[in-house]
Amino acid sequence: MISRIDMRGSLPENLRDVLPRAELDVEAALEKVRPICEDVRHRGAAAVRELTARFDGVEIASTRVAKEEIDRALAELDPRVRAALEESIRRARKVHRDQRRNDTTTEVVPGGTVTERWVPVERVGLYVPGGRAVYPSSVVMNVVPAQEAGVASLAVTSPAQRDFGGLPHPTILAACALLGVDEVYNVGGAQAVAMFAYGTEECAPATMVTGPGNIWVAAAKRLLKGRIGIDSEAGPTEIAILADSTADPVHVAADLISQAEHDVIAAAVLVTDSVELAEAVEKELPGQVAATKHSERIAEALGGRQSGIVLVSDVEAGLKVVDAYAAEHLEIHTADAAAVAARVRNAGAIFVGTYAPVSLGDYLAGSNHVLPTGGCACHSSGLSVQSFLRGIHVVDYTREALAGAAAHVSVLADAEDLPAHGAAVRARFDWEVPNP
Ligand code: NAD
Repeated sequence: MISRIDMRGSLPENLRDVLPRAELDVEAALEKVRPICEDVRHRGAAAVRELTARFDGVEIASTRVAKEEIDRALAELDPRVRAALEESIRRARKVHRDQRRNDTTTEVVPGGTVTERWVPVERVGLYVPGGRAVYPSSVVMNVVPAQEAGVASLAVTSPAQRDFGGLPHPTILAACALLGVDEVYNVGGAQAVAMFAYGTEECAPATMVTGPGNIWVAAAKRLLKGRIGIDSEAGPTEIAILADSTADPVHVAADLISQAEHDVIAAAVLVTDSVELAEAVEKELPGQVAATKHSERIAEALGGRQSGIVLVSDVEAGLKVVDAYAAEHLEIHTADAAAVAARVRNAGAIFVGTYAPVSLGDYLAGSNHVLPTGGCACHSSGLSVQSFLRGIHVVDYTREALAGAAAHVSVLADAEDLPAHGAAVRARFDWEVPNP
């Protein structure tokens, strides 16, 4: 059901390349999404509606969801789901509120200050996936940080569902209502990203688009980056678990399965120095997989080349492996898990010990679940309040403070063969360079 890679002994030099990883050819998908994005750019909402018919199999009259539909979804929401979503929102808000940054002012020299002012982006389009599964939790994870950052204009989009008359899934609409979002679109895939990038008659262009999605969404984000701001490419889910002989194989197997449930190309990787644990997990998996609803999808994900059990000689080597892998989600099931977790350098989010499974983070830990995948966690962070802010340096110098810098500016400008730069400063002092 899951393959084994034996890395006991020395670790290979090209560790990053030999670890199990989904082959996601976003570059190839770029050629497919280019005409989709161009179509939306030139023909606006009509193109979006046609693309929805083609890729989502449903005719829609409008790309904007009426406010009554959003209100109706909330009114009809199962009260237990409502209570769970409200608790999820409350916890996420608590964590994200603490991420807000204060402006800082530094007096560089007397009379010369630099203030870093944090300003939210104007308008964001938040993508909530809805192909294979529907993710009301992703509404929470996108909207809460954007709201806490102070984004003034906020729109959510999620694919039109054939079974719901071309609207996004009702739980997604209800989650929007709970968060006070009433600008919602029933558009998915690359056309949704293009709609936000270029705008249409029915949707004003956004400054930024965020949120997880499949390969088409990721490719459109890569293609239109620059035209529109993006968060990281949050693609198919990954879980890595670093475990030793103290880990419980039942928990380890359950957590690998829980993330494999997302997608046939989701990745589940166990890194362990315990052959006994590896064997126990291998024994545990078939029974748990057979007993779960999406067993076929899970079996395909676990059996895929992106998943596997990596055997290492000790936890030290395991740390090197998980750092090279840079998983979206990393669980630590070892003795003294907190100390081991503190040494990890690369991960989207780290889950410490037996009682912090990734499923908790998916819904209710308070942390964000929109996280970098495909190894991008070695350079990118998950979605946060910071994702929606720009730090603007405000430079304020008096005449005296500029005079103190003028000679150095002139010298550096000449050294870069940009004498007009120095001249711009000298113009303020009747072309004389003041003495520093
Ligand atoms: P999705 O909403 O991302 O994609 C569905 C859309 O893809 C459809 O609306 C359709 O327009 C478009 N599409 C489908 N087939 C197409 C084709 N052949 N050509 C062009 N466009 C096409 O939903 P999904 O497919 O369920 O994918 C969601 C992904 O998001 C999963 O891989 C899941 O693991 C991932 N996810 C990641 C995170 C994270 O934080 N990294 C969180 C949640 C979900």
